Amino acid sequence: MKQLGKISMGLGDRFGHQGSAQLKAIIDAGKKGIEITPVWNKSNREHMIIGTQPGDVRKEADHVTTKAGFKKSYFVDADHINLDTVDRFIESSDFFTIDVASYIGKKAGDQEINEFVKGTAKYTGELKIPGIRKPFKVTNKLVTEIAEKYLFAAIKAWEIFRKIEKEKGKGNFVTEVSMDEVPHPQTPVELLFILKMLGEENIPVQTIAPKFSGRFNKGVDYVGDPEKFAEEFEADLMVIDFAVREFGLPHNLKMSVHSGSDKFAIYPYIGEIITKHGKGLHLKTAGTTWLEEVIGLAASGGKALDFVKDIYYKSLEKTEELCAPYADVIDINISKLPPKSEVAKWSSRKFADSLRHVPGNKDYNPNIRQLIHVAYKLAALKMDEYFHLLEANEKTVSAAVYENIYNRHICRLFDIK
Ligand SMILES: [Zn+2]
Repeated sequence: MKQLGKISMGLGDRFGHQGSAQLKAIIDAGKKGIEITPVWNKSNREHMIIGTQPGDVRKEADHVTTKAGFKKSYFVDADHINLDTVDRFIESSDFFTIDVASYIGKKAGDQEINEFVKGTAKYTGELKIPGIRKPFKVTNKLVTEIAEKYLFAAIKAWEIFRKIEKEKGKGNFVTEVSMDEVPHPQTPVELLFILKMLGEENIPVQTIAPKFSGRFNKGVDYVGDPEKFAEEFEADLMVIDFAVREFGLPHNLKMSVHSGSDKFAIYPYIGEIITKHGKGLHLKTAGTTWLEEVIGLAASGGKALDFVKDIYYKSLEKTEELCAPYADVIDINISKLPPKSEVAKWSSRKFADSLRHVPGNKDYNPNIRQLIHVAYKLAALKMDEYFHLLEANEKTVSAAVYENIYNRHICRLFDIK
């Protein structure tokens, strides 16, 4: 079976220009003793908005790894696919994030639900999960409710999995199941029975992406209580351990954190907990590479600065339209978005600092950052000019991309000094 390394990182590169800079961060982490398997991911939504094909991500991943002489494994992730969107990803991907969010809450057949509940009889009562202080109070009613909410999604996950397996062949790809893009988080006890369902469906899931408590807004820090998150995260890890032993799931099943990027407040907790338990992790860092491109262009000044300022002006006019597809994962305070007349006077440094995620910097403005984060479509409309600027200012741009992934993400997560 194709296996993901113990620590892996999902890297987004919307415009396909930053693979080398991203890979350099991975290689440098390896030099510090942190082996990370790179996974290039791009969702259907991003492909649609930009007008790229899944095969483009494969080409980029193959190209940059060959160029760097990178001999370790790497993957191309069909991110957040479902039954309707998986087809065009099958050939070029070897990692599939099966997104069951849209099936959650739809009810499976009564017989299927009853059978599932019957099969969990041995877990009812006070269920002690090693590593979790308080036992779960499992009742028939609770399991029935969980089955009513999630069993249909598990069955759909199997259908999607089989569709991929039929074409790619057994063991030739990594399977992730994601349910993070939903309004409510899954509790550890829900996760336990969801994993039971996936075990019964015989899905060799290697990574599972639940929705955690707190807000995981795109490109900005975690909103919530990090201590509470840590407790939930650790309980989920213990649940995964238990599920692997009990439900016949793959031994390397690990947690996937769809971070929306930049969850600096919880990185130290995640790093500490996985180290304490010797666990693996898949961390998706989403599309902040695009933001780093904008920062790199801003820092380059001249025409590059004019171009990104113009993107900001246009995004002010189209705020509603740009934010709509991301409504659940951004929180922009429109009153804190400076008007065009003000930004027009900004220096290169001031514009870059407003966007760069350095919370202590007085110019950092998470509202501008989130708006630009979802404004990549505007660059896609002027792709030739954008690519020309990226290429002309490659050094500054790739330095920004590298610094972000290596210093702000990897070093924080793995406590590299
Ligand atoms: Zn996700």
